[in-house]
Parts: sequence; C-alpha cells; structure tokens
Amino acid sequence: MSLKVVKFGGSSLADANQFRKVAAIINSEESRRYVVPSAPGKRFSDDIKVTDMLYKCADLAGSGIDFSETFNIIKDRYNGIISDLGVDISLEDEFNDIAAELKARPAKDFAASRGEYLNGKILAAYLGYEFVDAADVIIFDTKGMLLLDETVKAVRERLSSVHNAVIPGFYGRTTEGFVKTFSRGGSDVTGSIVANAVRAEIYENWTDVSGFLVTDPRIVDNPDVINVITYRELRELAYMGASVLHEDAIFPVRSAGIPINIRNTNRPEDKGTMIVSDDYDFTVDDSHTITGIAGRKGFSTINIEKGMMNSETGFGMKVLKALYENGLSFEHMPSGIDTMSITVDSAKLEPVRDKVLAQIRKEVNPDHLEIEDGIALLAVVGRRMKNTRGTVARIFAALAHARINVKMIDQGSSELNVIVGVSEHDLNEAIRRIYDMFINSEKN
Ligand code: ASP
Repeated sequence: MSLKVVKFGGSSLADANQFRKVAAIINSEESRRYVVPSAPGKRFSDDIKVTDMLYKCADLAGSGIDFSETFNIIKDRYNGIISDLGVDISLEDEFNDIAAELKARPAKDFAASRGEYLNGKILAAYLGYEFVDAADVIIFDTKGMLLLDETVKAVRERLSSVHNAVIPGFYGRTTEGFVKTFSRGGSDVTGSIVANAVRAEIYENWTDVSGFLVTDPRIVDNPDVINVITYRELRELAYMGASVLHEDAIFPVRSAGIPINIRNTNRPEDKGTMIVSDDYDFTVDDSHTITGIAGRKGFSTINIEKGMMNSETGFGMKVLKALYENGLSFEHMPSGIDTMSITVDSAKLEPVRDKVLAQIRKEVNPDHLEIEDGIALLAVVGRRMKNTRGTVARIFAALAHARINVKMIDQGSSELNVIVGVSEHDLNEAIRRIYDMFINSEKN
C-alpha cells in the first residue's frame, strides 16, 4: 500500500482556515498517513510568526524581563485556531508548563520548539491522528549534530504500530535530554527524516507556492513552474540562492531514493515540482531544454596575465596558495594560455584583498594583475543540455542580441550547467533574455 509523508509549512497552518485546507488535503488520500507540521506562520505580510515570538519570549526571559505580553499573543493565536475549528482540546496546561520552564531555564531551542509542538497537538486532535512527540524520536548528539541512524531507528520503531500520526517538525532532543532545534525552516528536515524512516513512496512538502519556478519572479513576470528537477540540478540552483527547501532536507530522502513533491496548500490541484534522482523515468518528461536560470551578485575576479604562463610548472599552485594562505576560497577559475581569472566572493575577498594581491605578485611575478568587482554569476542549469546540440550557442546568442558583455564562461564537466559571468547591472536583463530564448520560444 502506498505511503506518503506530508509536511505543511507555517503559512499552510497559520489560521483555522488554513487548517481546514490541510485537513482536506490529508483526508483526500488514505496514503497521507504521517504528517509533519510547522508552527503557525504569517497570515499576512506584516504578521509575526509564532516561532519569532517564542524566540522573543526566550530573550526576554533570559534577561529576567516579563514576557507575558508576547506569550499572551501566542496563546491567543492557538486558542483562536482551536475555537474556530471547534476542536475539543485545551492547551492551558501546556501553556503553563512552557511559561514555568522559560522562567526557570530560558533556553532558546526549547522556546522555539513549542511552536511546532503546540500546533502538532491541535492538528492531531483535529485529524484524529496520534500525536508523536519529536523529542522522543529525533536525536541529536551533545554538540547538536543530528544522529541520523539512531533517529531513523527510533522513528521507525515508534511508528511501526501507529497507522496515522502527527510528528511536529523542527526539533528533537539531545542524548542528554535537552530540546534541540534544527536551523530555521527545519521542519523540512524532520519531514525528510520521517519519510526515510517509514520508507515512504514520496515526501510531499506543502507550502504556499506551486513548486520551484524556472527563475526569480522578481526578474521575469510569472515564470513557469519546473515540473521535474533532479537533486543535482537543484543543488546547482540552490548554490545560486534559489531555494524553497531547507538544504539539509535533501540528504535523508535522496539517499533513500525517495522523491520530494513541492505542493501548494492553497492550490492543491497544481501538480507542483517533483525533485527526483537521476535514475527517474523521464520518458514522459515534457520539460524544456533548460530546467532553471539563477543569478547571484557580489563576485570579483582576480585577473592574472603572464607571458608563457602555460609552460611554467606550478604557476596555478602558487596563485592558489596565495588564496589558501589568506583563507579565501574560490568559485571558478577559467584560464587561457597566458591568462588566468579567478572568481571569488567579494565580501570574503575584501578583508584580505591587499594581502592576496601582494602575495600573488611575490609568488608569480605577473605582467599584469587586477581585480574587477561588480561581477554577477548566472547559472543556466539543465540535465537535457548534455544531449541537446546548440544550447550554449543559444545562451550566447541571447546575450549578444542584448549587447551584454560576457566576462567569464564555465561549463562543468557534467554538462549540467553553464555559468556565465556578467556585470552586475546586466544580470536581470541577461536572465530575461535567456528565459525568452528557452522558455517562451519553446512554447511557440
Ligand atoms: N517554525 C520554524 C521556523 O520558523 C521551523 C519551520 O517552519 O520549518 O523557522
């Protein structure tokens, strides 16, 4: 029988109306047996997430200041959801215990975790599902690192006799018994772990968008949703800052070969985005040649020129040594016969800029050495590029038509992406042109 783990984000559970949508989604398929909720998120753009208010309570309590005003707002939010839904549950005992604990030991992680804990209690009561406390099954070591094997074993054992359960996201406990959270957005990680543990057929991650978009909607109006993306493609796009999923949510499902389906709670009829392994059956895949386009500003290139550089043994090593000894990592390093250009993060370069330049000068005595700031990197990512001739030509034709100067090109050996360096002020136009070239024109 098919089995799905479904995670709902904060905006999907922000008020009673959202709870109703969530319950309708869960009840529409019997296979949606294990549910991982976030804490109530924003109901409107200026609203405050319950998690943020709980952090505030912990801060105030830590400074010995009365936190009851903020805590009362939190209580009102939960009580409002309970009465509006008409569920037969009271959280008064829990509220009192939390307030007492915060006064005695104002631990941030404990405070923040209560957002998911309380929401999980309500959702379990509303659905008639069993509540399984994440503190019993998600286990961290004393340094706060997740113990994945122990956790998977504990979740599997605990759920083996439970047909339907709500397991709150975001937190667990350390081997010493303290409540510990993941970093922000960490309910995604809990969902992924639970999916691995119960060997789910699919991990559905319900949020407020209908999946990953081909590119940033602030740059291109109404961009298409990506139907299918591989984990490797996702990593390339996430590096460029395009993500709606917590980074650590990938490993537990990817290692178990479980796809993630990003879905929209407010538009359950949309299929969303499937995130799959490379061995997925792509025969019915009607995706475009490219999967996504992402860009990031804030890079600099260190340009080095020296006649006969290519025959000088150890040249590259000496240059990289100058970076290494100043604690600077690099992003890309395309080179020519007599030139080498190294792309680095400008903010990381700034504090060691003069030292790096001086050391490169000393190590390799270049004919010419300069730093160019204000560079943006643009990644065109797509598993289909490898087998489609002319993709690179089309990218550069799009840029040439817009008279955009290309400063750097790098195609990874996997042929999964092409990285192009352009001036920061050309980035948005470059993305629009490439979008037009591949997405709009392939539709016509
Ligand atoms: N509630 C937590 C946060 O706001 C975790 C989550 O929503 O995934 O970061």
